Amino acid sequence: MNIVVLIKQVPDTTDVKIDPRTGTLIREGVPSIINPDDKHALEEGLRIREKFGGTVTVLSMGPPQAEDALMEARAMGADTTVLISDRAFAGSDTLATSYALARSVITTGEWDIVLGGRQAIDGDTAQIGPQTAELLGVPQVTYCIEIDIAEDGRSVTAKRALEDGYEVIETKLPALFTVIKDINQPRYPSIRGIVNVCRDCDVQTWNAKDIGASKKMIGLDGSPTQVARTFAPEPKGDGLILEGPPEQTTKELVKHLRDKNVVRVR
Ligand SMILES: Cc1cc2nc3c(=O)[nH]c(=O)nc-3n(C[C@H](O)[C@H](O)[C@H](O)COP(=O)(O)OP(=O)(O)OC[C@H]3O[C@@H](n4cnc5c(N)ncnc54)[C@H](O)[C@@H]3O)c2cc1C
Repeated sequence: MNIVVLIKQVPDTTDVKIDPRTGTLIREGVPSIINPDDKHALEEGLRIREKFGGTVTVLSMGPPQAEDALMEARAMGADTTVLISDRAFAGSDTLATSYALARSVITTGEWDIVLGGRQAIDGDTAQIGPQTAELLGVPQVTYCIEIDIAEDGRSVTAKRALEDGYEVIETKLPALFTVIKDINQPRYPSIRGIVNVCRDCDVQTWNAKDIGASKKMIGLDGSPTQVARTFAPEPKGDGLILEGPPEQTTKELVKHLRDKNVVRVR
């Protein structure tokens, strides 16, 4: 079973601060991590390899520092790690990114299953999985909490989370799955894995030419998204504290809620 896992390096958002003057993220000094959902995707890939054999190839598109995320993936047990990096990718929106990732999956050779996280904690669109599946022309199951591959290694039953329950989907491989954190508990990098990474830190790098990407489909040329405006959300006020006897404060509260159209009293 040849398994491909998509991981994104993201800023650790618990530490992210907004520059109040420019409204942009202050990235200096902010540590980077593997996007949390993606660790679960990698764990699932490693478990599938343990059951069926084969290889786990991890792909990440990003700047050179994304190599750190790939080294961590290697220490967790990935067989091959590839950084997809080229100035030609600058300005890529989700469609151009999905195109580059789909081309990269194809470049890995014969593959059976692609796993990714549901959503990245920085970009937050959850578009990459579905778009990549479309570009690869394979079935997709998103929001997976269980992926059960039949003994024949060809058909899959996947359970996907909905707001008020779950859905069970059957499909054939090759296919793409995005996962959420409830699917498993990711392992820590093993001591052996860390030693192997230190001895042989072999992260491959592929550029646009290596993956056979058309210039029209990547970077700004391949990105139909127009960002009209970016802004930081207004800080919330301190809230309203009503003081006085319950009869009076209840009336005041109802008035506030009516004024804000939260409730309608007949
Ligand atoms: C007009 C425009 C220009 C942009 N220019 C740039 C730019 O110059 N540089 C830049 O870094 N970003 C740029 N971006 C942002 C970039 O397009 C997104 O970060 C990227 O498409 C991923 O989207 P997302 O974070 O919403 O991922 P989601 O769709 O939320 O991610 C879902 C899953 O897809 C996989 N995934 C997502 N991104 C990657 C990745 N890069 N590698 C491997 N797997 C991945 C992961 O498994 C992840 O859990 C730009 C966006 C727009 C709209």
